[in-house]
Amino acid sequence: PSSRVLVTGGAGYIGSHVLHALADAGIPAVTIDNLSTGRRQAVPASVPLVEGDVGSPALLDEVIREHGVDAVMHFAGSIVVPESVEKPLAYYRNNTVSSLTLLDACVRHGIDKLVFSSTAAVYGAPERVPIDEDAPTAPINPYGASKLMTEQMLRDAGAAHGLRSVILRYFNVAGADPAGRTGQATPVATHLIKVACQALLGQRPALSVFGTDYPTPDGTCIRDYIHVSDLADAHVLALLHLRRGGDSLILNCGYGRGASVREVVRTLESVSGETVPATLGPRRAGDPPQLVSAAARIRERLGWVPKHDSLEEIVRSALSWERRLDQERAGRDGA
Ligand code: UDP
Repeated sequence: PSSRVLVTGGAGYIGSHVLHALADAGIPAVTIDNLSTGRRQAVPASVPLVEGDVGSPALLDEVIREHGVDAVMHFAGSIVVPESVEKPLAYYRNNTVSSLTLLDACVRHGIDKLVFSSTAAVYGAPERVPIDEDAPTAPINPYGASKLMTEQMLRDAGAAHGLRSVILRYFNVAGADPAGRTGQATPVATHLIKVACQALLGQRPALSVFGTDYPTPDGTCIRDYIHVSDLADAHVLALLHLRRGGDSLILNCGYGRGASVREVVRTLESVSGETVPATLGPRRAGDPPQLVSAAARIRERLGWVPKHDSLEEIVRSALSWERRLDQERAGRDGA
């Protein structure tokens, strides 16, 4: 029987896109999700959803045995930076301690392949852009620290127990499945593109632009936005790399070019033909002026070729998804 990959957090934003990419590639999967922020309907019908917590060793034992799991992709976790500053211990529990429990289960069951969702937040406020994978890691918030600790556990467990891993350090993930099967559905939006779409649709009074006095060409922060479907493809390639017997890797996930907050807003306005209500506000604490990935290594090591690397496509897909959610809500309220 073919082995299954265990995807933790498969009902969430990125996890659900990866489940669809795996299903499209004919790769069997099973997911564990506690549905704290994820949605049941985001999981493809062909994938068993086990409702529960990744921090439970007994549940992991059961799922791994029952489904013949040979590899793990670990998405489950908390991702809101300001929240991590207010509730650091919740972040260490939910991100670091749960990962420890999961790694323990891998070692116990002889699973030697793991793909891990990490973040450019491990670099903190970098001295230079573009940022390559050998840049120093120096997170400036508990979220980034909680992810870096898991990276360290993976490195040490790799050396001691032969657990091979691909650590993917995401830059700014945005957009939605072009087929409209899933998207970002968390009710509390903090990420720029989602917030801008909500402002455009009148779901919030305005987008607040956090800082216009940064040392960048137009004064607003620059980020490397990557389409979630390209990111999902990178995960499938990472899994195939490990299944071929490939070695452990740390790879940035970004396109290697940046866009400013103003450029994002302008692009959204040009694809929609509408105006984004926006107010210019002060800087948000902890935002580095520029985060842009050095994008060569993932292409070299995994043969990753992005298919959706235009800001237009990212914001267009994000906006269609937001409209779809709007209709869903209207349908519910009307029923
Ligand atoms: N940003 C903004 N208004 C918002 C949300 C974000 O101006 O409502 C800016 C933020 O200051 C940063 C960029 O958009 O410069 C990307 O922020 P986001 O929270 O999307 O991702 P981050 O880079 O913090 O992970």
